[in-house]
Amino acid sequence: MPQEAGSKAGIRPGMRERMKEMRATREEHVIQLTYLPVLFPVNCYLVEEEDGLTLVDAALPVNAEAIMQAAVRIGKPITRIALTHAHSDHIGALDRLKHALPDARVYISERDARLLAGDVSLDDDEPATPIRGGVPKPGKIATTPDELLQGGERIGSLLAISVPGHTPGSMAFMDTRSRILLAGDAFQTRSRTAVSGHLQPLFPFPALATWDKNASLRSAKALLKLEPALLAAGHGNMLRQPAAAMERAIAAAELAFAGQTSKGGGS
Ligand SMILES: [Zn+2]
Repeated sequence: MPQEAGSKAGIRPGMRERMKEMRATREEHVIQLTYLPVLFPVNCYLVEEEDGLTLVDAALPVNAEAIMQAAVRIGKPITRIALTHAHSDHIGALDRLKHALPDARVYISERDARLLAGDVSLDDDEPATPIRGGVPKPGKIATTPDELLQGGERIGSLLAISVPGHTPGSMAFMDTRSRILLAGDAFQTRSRTAVSGHLQPLFPFPALATWDKNASLRSAKALLKLEPALLAAGHGNMLRQPAAAMERAIAAAELAFAGQTSKGGGS
């Protein structure tokens, strides 16, 4: 890559480096890192604590370096990695990060830990709908989670909330200091705010990757009841005072899903 003239510090990145950049947006203690914000936004989050950072989700393999650099800029180490679910655009950099940060503790729901290990089998009490979206093949992910969540646990300032639907073991995390809700793919804010499973033609990917729409609708309602001050989703910009948008999204999903229940696949 040719260096641009006059970039004395050599910081002016070449195209290859620019391709790996992540946009950083801060709200309170939460820094949203976004890969490809215009084209296909993939978010992960750094949550600042007194003594370190909790990374929520691990984006794509190509993002490992940018995530580490963001932590360096904040000036605190990543001590925890909490995963909302095991889809490939939320766990992509996990192995690289865990390799670079062997002391970081890794958290995921007990249910989605099975997906992380490549096991897509369903339990008897679950709807017989195949798990969708990019799930790693068995043995692809080397990292073994340190703690398996059920919901209700504290991870630093974050409260773990079970939100099944997008995947069977999806989790959301609420920062108890600010009521910022890290919703994973339970909601999307890209295109418009929508419940997981409600297809938005301009950004259909989270819906196409959703396992059980009816469960995701129940989870969306549960998240609204928590009265988040800000909605921080896996795909799309952060949304302040999100109650009205979440209500609209829930009403729209209810309407859309009602016409589909007769086809089965729900619960
Ligand atoms: Zn997903």
